[in-house]
Amino acid sequence: MAEIILTGDRPTGKLHLGHYVGSLRQRVVLQNSGDFDDIFIMIADSQALTDNADNPEKIRTNIIEVALDYLSVGIDPDKSNILIQSQIPALSELSSYYMNLVTVARLQRNPTVKAEVEMRGFQSNVPVGFFTYPISQAADITAFKATVVPTGEDQEPMIEQTREIVRKFNQIYGEVLVEPKILLSDNKVCKRLPGTDGKAKMSKSLGNGIYLSDDSETLKQKVMSMYTDPDHIRVEDPGKIEGNTVFTYLDAFCVSEDFPDFLPDYGCLDDLKEHYKKGGLGDVKIKKFLIKVLERELTPIRERRSRFEKDIASVYDILKTGTDAANRVADATLSEAKAAMKINYFDDTALIKSQQEMYNN
Ligand code: ATP
Ligand code: MG
Repeated sequence: MAEIILTGDRPTGKLHLGHYVGSLRQRVVLQNSGDFDDIFIMIADSQALTDNADNPEKIRTNIIEVALDYLSVGIDPDKSNILIQSQIPALSELSSYYMNLVTVARLQRNPTVKAEVEMRGFQSNVPVGFFTYPISQAADITAFKATVVPTGEDQEPMIEQTREIVRKFNQIYGEVLVEPKILLSDNKVCKRLPGTDGKAKMSKSLGNGIYLSDDSETLKQKVMSMYTDPDHIRVEDPGKIEGNTVFTYLDAFCVSEDFPDFLPDYGCLDDLKEHYKKGGLGDVKIKKFLIKVLERELTPIRERRSRFEKDIASVYDILKTGTDAANRVADATLSEAKAAMKINYFDDTALIKSQQEMYNN
């Protein structure tokens, strides 16, 4: 069976370090592994509109930001198709059929939807489109017959929902759709990177992010004001590692060369943690170290971004090419699904013939 990747992001803002460690970094590794037959990376503008219907300009302007972020981290349009969700009509059509296979109660139980409804303060005013976005997401994944979806942990309930829809569809209509597997980072903190405020998840909507496109000065300011251990007041106080965002980010980003290069008094991250726990290590020192670690990772990303920023037309060409390729695949799956559902009246010559025979007799 072909190995296919589908993954994506909402164009609600620029991409941040949470996206990077949760999904982007892995996508690039998978892309370059050569183990996949096809890769689809989707800018999920229709999904973004489900909770931003009154702000289309925000979605429009962020398409290019997300595309630039993709290219800057090393997504290669020769190896991966970058596509715009709203330009793939088959996705909406598939969603509408999948809606018949899911109950309202099941959607209400979806923990990610629950958490996001609460975070957005929707209370009882949840837009229907937002409420049903797990179903559209199933359409996105299955349209490309994706086998692997690299994403952050918050998407786990979505993939489970997709798998249920696939099983139900195949059971009723026959084996057409493919059940995807989620691919999470094997680094625990990368599955759900907290925000700079220490909050559960770095998120565009919470404004607690460090963006891939932040310049050095902004990065420095954000790190210097990051949440650490509120009880670690004087340098000599013992400090906590658990819930200390600076250490969480070091867990996500630090590589062994960072110590000889930037902090040679320590052999590894565990040594640094031990010293912090014992007392005698100040927040400023660990923050300055984190800045260097992040700078090393982000500098080449910023450089690539600035090259692509000089030719926006070519970025749109990349999006158009990726979207065209995606349409071909999604249309083929839709045709297969419609044939299985017996709603392919005009393509089915046997139908007319058999009905004619019925009337002839
Ligand atoms: P929004 O607030 O608009 O929902 P977001 O920051 O949650 O934006 P999405 O576009 O919803 O970003 O998520 C895109 C991908 O990035 C998903 O695979 C998601 O799991 C992953 N992701 C987002 N935030 C994090 C995070 N803090 N840690 C790890 N992965 C993340
Ligand atoms: Mg999100």
